[in-house]
Amino acid sequence: MDIVDIYTDFKAQINQLITLVAVSKTKPEEDILKLYNVGHKVFGENKVQELNRKYQNLPKDVNWHFIGHLQTNKVKIIAPYISVIHSVDSVKILKEINYRANLNNRIIKCLLQFHVAKEDAKFGLKEADIPSFFESINFNELTNVEIIGIMGMATYTTDKELITSEFKQLNEIFKRLKVEYFANNVSFTEISMGMSNDYKIAIAQGATMIRIGSTIFGER
Ligand SMILES: *Cc1c(COP(=O)(O)O)cnc(C)c1O
Repeated sequence: MDIVDIYTDFKAQINQLITLVAVSKTKPEEDILKLYNVGHKVFGENKVQELNRKYQNLPKDVNWHFIGHLQTNKVKIIAPYISVIHSVDSVKILKEINYRANLNNRIIKCLLQFHVAKEDAKFGLKEADIPSFFESINFNELTNVEIIGIMGMATYTTDKELITSEFKQLNEIFKRLKVEYFANNVSFTEISMGMSNDYKIAIAQGATMIRIGSTIFGER
Protein backbone atom coordinates (compact mmCIF):
# COMPACT_ATOMS: atom_id res chain seq x y z
CA MET A 1 0.00 0.00 0.00
CA ASP A 2 1.14 3.55 -0.70
CA ILE A 3 2.30 5.53 2.35
CA VAL A 4 -0.35 8.18 1.71
CA ASP A 5 -3.08 5.52 2.00
CA ILE A 6 -1.48 4.05 5.11
CA TYR A 7 -1.18 7.52 6.64
CA THR A 8 -4.78 8.41 5.75
CA ASP A 9 -6.13 5.21 7.32
CA PHE A 10 -3.97 5.67 10.41
CA LYS A 11 -4.97 9.28 10.87
CA ALA A 12 -8.66 8.39 10.52
CA GLN A 13 -8.54 5.86 13.36
CA ILE A 14 -7.02 8.14 16.00
CA ASN A 15 -8.66 10.96 17.93
CA GLN A 16 -8.09 14.13 15.91
CA LEU A 17 -7.06 16.02 19.05
CA ILE A 18 -3.93 13.86 19.31
CA THR A 19 -0.83 15.25 17.61
CA LEU A 20 0.61 12.68 15.24
CA VAL A 21 4.38 13.09 14.91
CA ALA A 22 5.30 11.19 11.75
CA VAL A 23 8.77 9.84 12.52
CA SER A 24 10.64 10.06 9.23
CA LYS A 25 14.16 9.18 10.45
CA THR A 26 16.17 7.22 7.85
CA LYS A 27 13.39 7.75 5.28
CA PRO A 28 13.83 9.75 2.08
CA GLU A 29 12.65 13.31 1.60
CA GLU A 30 10.22 12.17 -1.10
CA ASP A 31 8.29 10.14 1.50
CA ILE A 32 7.99 13.23 3.70
CA LEU A 33 6.82 15.29 0.71
CA LYS A 34 4.11 12.77 -0.10
CA LEU A 35 2.54 13.29 3.33
CA TYR A 36 3.23 17.01 3.27
CA ASN A 37 1.29 17.21 0.01
CA VAL A 38 -1.79 15.73 1.66
CA GLY A 39 -1.53 18.27 4.47
CA HIS A 40 0.64 16.63 7.12
CA LYS A 41 3.15 19.04 8.63
CA VAL A 42 4.52 17.43 11.78
CA PHE A 43 7.61 15.23 11.36
CA GLY A 44 10.03 13.75 13.88
CA GLU A 45 13.76 13.18 13.42
CA ASN A 46 16.42 11.92 15.82
CA LYS A 47 19.72 12.90 14.20
CA VAL A 48 20.82 16.51 13.85
CA GLN A 49 22.67 16.12 10.56
CA GLU A 50 19.88 14.22 8.85
CA LEU A 51 17.27 16.65 10.17
CA ASN A 52 19.28 19.61 8.98
CA ARG A 53 19.60 18.23 5.46
CA LYS A 54 15.87 17.52 5.31
CA TYR A 55 15.08 20.97 6.73
CA GLN A 56 17.12 22.60 3.98
CA ASN A 57 15.57 20.60 1.15
CA LEU A 58 11.93 20.57 2.22
CA PRO A 59 9.23 23.27 2.53
CA LYS A 60 9.93 25.75 5.31
CA ASP A 61 6.58 25.35 7.03
CA VAL A 62 7.26 21.75 8.05
CA ASN A 63 6.91 21.49 11.80
CA TRP A 64 10.06 19.63 12.86
CA HIS A 65 10.17 17.75 16.17
CA PHE A 66 13.50 16.56 17.52
CA ILE A 67 12.97 13.21 19.28
CA GLY A 68 16.50 11.84 19.77
CA HIS A 69 19.21 12.55 22.28
CA LEU A 70 20.52 16.07 21.72
CA GLN A 71 24.12 17.01 22.44
CA THR A 72 24.70 20.50 23.81
CA ASN A 73 27.08 21.46 21.01
CA LYS A 74 24.47 20.64 18.34
CA VAL A 75 21.63 22.80 19.68
CA LYS A 76 22.83 25.79 17.67
CA ILE A 77 22.36 23.90 14.40
CA ILE A 78 18.63 23.29 14.85
CA ALA A 79 17.75 26.33 16.98
CA PRO A 80 16.82 28.52 13.98
CA TYR A 81 13.91 26.29 12.98
CA ILE A 82 13.08 23.43 15.39
CA SER A 83 9.48 23.52 16.69
CA VAL A 84 9.59 21.05 19.57
CA ILE A 85 12.45 19.25 21.31
CA HIS A 86 11.14 16.08 23.00
CA SER A 87 14.33 15.03 24.75
CA VAL A 88 15.23 17.63 27.37
CA ASP A 89 16.75 15.71 30.27
CA SER A 90 19.17 18.11 31.93
CA VAL A 91 19.32 21.69 33.13
CA LYS A 92 22.40 22.17 30.98
CA ILE A 93 20.62 21.31 27.71
CA LEU A 94 17.57 23.38 28.68
CA LYS A 95 19.77 26.44 29.30
CA GLU A 96 21.59 25.95 26.01
CA ILE A 97 18.29 25.66 24.11
CA ASN A 98 17.12 28.87 25.80
CA TYR A 99 20.38 30.64 24.90
CA ARG A 100 20.25 29.59 21.24
CA ALA A 101 16.53 30.30 20.93
CA ASN A 102 17.19 33.78 22.26
CA LEU A 103 19.96 34.42 19.72
CA ASN A 104 17.48 33.45 17.01
CA ASN A 105 14.67 35.53 18.49
CA ARG A 106 12.54 32.45 18.91
CA ILE A 107 10.70 30.48 21.55
CA ILE A 108 11.43 26.76 21.39
CA LYS A 109 8.90 24.34 22.84
CA CYS A 110 10.40 21.59 24.98
CA LEU A 111 9.28 18.35 26.57
CA LEU A 112 11.05 16.91 29.60
CA GLN A 113 12.06 13.34 28.87
CA PHE A 114 11.49 10.81 31.64
CA HIS A 115 12.95 7.33 31.85
CA VAL A 116 10.37 4.83 33.07
CA ALA A 117 11.28 1.73 31.02
CA LYS A 118 12.98 -1.35 32.42
CA GLU A 119 15.86 -1.13 29.96
CA ASP A 120 18.96 0.66 31.18
CA ALA A 121 19.09 3.94 29.35
CA LYS A 122 21.60 6.71 29.52
CA PHE A 123 18.99 9.35 28.82
CA GLY A 124 15.91 10.66 30.54
CA LEU A 125 15.17 12.10 33.96
CA LYS A 126 14.08 9.78 36.75
CA GLU A 127 11.09 10.63 38.88
CA ALA A 128 13.50 11.01 41.82
CA ASP A 129 15.39 13.74 39.92
CA ILE A 130 12.37 16.07 39.85
CA PRO A 131 13.12 18.19 42.96
CA SER A 132 16.79 18.80 42.13
CA PHE A 133 15.97 19.52 38.48
CA PHE A 134 13.45 22.20 39.40
CA GLU A 135 15.59 23.62 42.19
CA SER A 136 18.33 24.34 39.71
CA ILE A 137 16.24 26.10 37.09
CA ASN A 138 15.12 29.67 37.27
CA PHE A 139 12.00 30.09 35.16
CA ASN A 140 12.55 33.86 34.97
CA GLU A 141 15.80 33.31 33.10
CA LEU A 142 14.26 30.85 30.68
CA THR A 143 12.68 33.49 28.49
CA ASN A 144 12.96 31.61 25.20
CA VAL A 145 11.88 28.08 26.03
CA GLU A 146 8.39 26.91 26.76
CA ILE A 147 8.12 23.62 28.64
CA ILE A 148 4.91 22.19 27.20
CA GLY A 149 4.92 18.74 28.81
CA ILE A 150 6.78 15.46 29.09
CA MET A 151 7.95 12.62 26.86
CA GLY A 152 8.75 9.01 27.56
CA MET A 153 9.13 5.53 26.14
CA ALA A 154 7.88 2.21 27.47
CA THR A 155 9.96 -0.94 27.61
CA TYR A 156 10.21 -2.69 24.23
CA THR A 157 8.18 -5.78 25.11
CA THR A 158 4.98 -7.67 24.29
CA ASP A 159 3.96 -7.45 27.97
CA LYS A 160 0.98 -5.12 27.72
CA GLU A 161 0.62 -4.83 31.48
CA LEU A 162 4.16 -3.58 31.84
CA ILE A 163 3.69 -1.06 29.01
CA THR A 164 0.41 0.08 30.58
CA SER A 165 2.01 0.60 33.99
CA GLU A 166 4.88 2.60 32.48
CA PHE A 167 2.55 4.90 30.55
CA LYS A 168 0.47 5.28 33.73
CA GLN A 169 3.64 6.33 35.53
CA LEU A 170 4.37 8.94 32.86
CA ASN A 171 0.85 10.29 33.20
CA GLU A 172 1.32 10.49 36.97
CA ILE A 173 4.61 12.36 36.55
CA PHE A 174 2.82 14.77 34.22
CA LYS A 175 0.03 15.40 36.74
CA ARG A 176 2.53 15.85 39.56
CA LEU A 177 4.55 18.43 37.60
CA LYS A 178 1.37 20.21 36.57
CA VAL A 179 0.39 20.63 40.23
CA GLU A 180 3.82 21.28 41.74
CA TYR A 181 5.59 23.38 39.11
CA PHE A 182 3.25 24.40 36.28
CA ALA A 183 0.02 25.27 38.06
CA ASN A 184 -0.27 28.68 36.42
CA ASN A 185 1.05 27.58 33.07
CA VAL A 186 -1.69 27.02 30.51
CA SER A 187 0.74 25.59 27.97
CA PHE A 188 1.93 22.64 30.08
CA THR A 189 -0.45 20.22 28.35
CA GLU A 190 1.42 17.53 26.44
CA ILE A 191 2.28 13.90 27.09
CA SER A 192 4.35 12.50 24.22
CA MET A 193 4.19 8.73 24.49
CA GLY A 194 3.40 5.84 22.16
CA MET A 195 5.21 4.49 19.11
CA SER A 196 4.15 2.00 16.41
CA ASN A 197 4.00 -1.00 18.71
CA ASP A 198 2.33 0.60 21.73
CA TYR A 199 0.45 3.75 20.68
CA LYS A 200 -2.99 2.26 21.44
CA ILE A 201 -1.99 1.66 25.05
CA ALA A 202 -0.42 5.12 25.21
CA ILE A 203 -3.60 6.78 23.98
CA ALA A 204 -5.66 4.84 26.53
CA GLN A 205 -3.29 6.20 29.21
CA GLY A 206 -3.64 9.82 28.12
CA ALA A 207 -1.08 10.48 25.38
CA THR A 208 -1.61 13.81 23.61
CA MET A 209 1.25 13.27 21.12
CA ILE A 210 2.21 9.96 19.54
CA ARG A 211 5.42 9.35 17.59
CA ILE A 212 4.80 6.92 14.75
CA GLY A 213 7.52 5.78 12.33
CA SER A 214 7.46 2.27 10.89
CA THR A 215 3.66 1.86 10.84
CA ILE A 216 3.43 4.75 8.38
CA PHE A 217 6.75 4.71 6.52
CA GLY A 218 7.51 0.98 6.67
CA GLU A 219 10.25 -0.89 8.48
CA ARG A 220 13.63 0.79 8.77
C1 LIG B 1 12.17 5.88 16.10
C2 LIG B 1 11.42 6.51 17.21
C3 LIG B 1 10.02 6.49 17.23
C4 LIG B 1 9.16 5.79 16.19
O1 LIG B 1 9.30 4.40 16.29
P1 LIG B 1 8.39 3.40 15.46
O2 LIG B 1 8.45 2.15 16.26
O3 LIG B 1 9.03 3.27 14.12
O4 LIG B 1 7.02 3.95 15.38
C5 LIG B 1 9.38 7.14 18.27
N1 LIG B 1 10.07 7.77 19.24
C6 LIG B 1 11.41 7.80 19.26
C7 LIG B 1 12.11 8.52 20.37
C8 LIG B 1 12.13 7.17 18.25
O5 LIG B 1 13.47 7.22 18.28
